Amino acid sequence: MALVTTKKMFEMAYKNGYAVGAFNVNNMEITQGIIAAIAEEKAPLILQISRGARKYASMSYLRAIIDVAVTENPDIPIVMHLDHGDTFEICKQCVDDGFTSVMVDASKHPFKENIEITKKVVEYAHGHNVAVEAELGQLGGIEDDVVGVDDVTKYLTDPDEAVEFVRASGCDSLAVACGTSHGAYKFKTEPKLAFDVIQGISEKLPGFPLVMHGSSSVLAEFKDLINKYGGAMPDAMGVPEQAICQAAKMAICKVNIDTDLRMALTAKIRQVFAEKPGEFDPRKYLGPARTAIKDMVAHKIKVLGCVDKVGEVLAAGD
Ligand SMILES: [Zn+2]
Repeated sequence: MALVTTKKMFEMAYKNGYAVGAFNVNNMEITQGIIAAIAEEKAPLILQISRGARKYASMSYLRAIIDVAVTENPDIPIVMHLDHGDTFEICKQCVDDGFTSVMVDASKHPFKENIEITKKVVEYAHGHNVAVEAELGQLGGIEDDVVGVDDVTKYLTDPDEAVEFVRASGCDSLAVACGTSHGAYKFKTEPKLAFDVIQGISEKLPGFPLVMHGSSSVLAEFKDLINKYGGAMPDAMGVPEQAICQAAKMAICKVNIDTDLRMALTAKIRQVFAEKPGEFDPRKYLGPARTAIKDMVAHKIKVLGCVDKVGEVLAAGD
């Protein structure tokens, strides 16, 4: 099967109360770990590429890795998605490069300008059967050049603005600011998601898929390993998984996860180095790291309620 768009995935996710995992791809081991989990759990998948990933690995390498993943897993619907495209030009380039979904993030611009930039991307992307995710409101934290606001509670998405934005721009899904934040240091105190924002938007836009960014949980298992084996992430804090689970049952159809991948990889590598200081074969530490990613992703798929959903997405066609 060729790459698919998010259209049918989101339709089914919305209807049946789950969310599709969107995992960031930066190299071969991360991709293989994600794919192995997805194949086992029979879950639809969004692989996303950030600007940082393109800078690090180059688009052609990432594209080739994803092509192999798609060819080797013909029964799994896979989307190739641009994460945080901040200009029309980068979104256009990705459409031309064969992405099946792009995110245009013009949320740092004033409302009207955000609409105009998004609309332009929508017109181009839809002409090529590519889906468009947009962003309204501002998220916090820092990840891969995306620098957010300090206080996430101040810039939550306004439900009335969301309605106007979606109607005027024609976007296919909307990343909303509902209290999540990018990176590993999301909160200083007990995190709380603004479920009323999600609920408010879905009441005004029934059936419209919403997206949650910055949704890693900073799993204790990996944080503890990192800190135990020479790392220093004592204050790392993420979004509790029960909150993600609850959001997935609502209008949230796509949940972005990157930090948890990074932490799984780093924790395993640190553990191998600490326990076997003589080890210098990259396969001996990248291999276990890849397995850790696989197990972590399999767990996330369960949190999102996305196990065994391949069949219904395929049945829905594309
Ligand atoms: Zn993001």
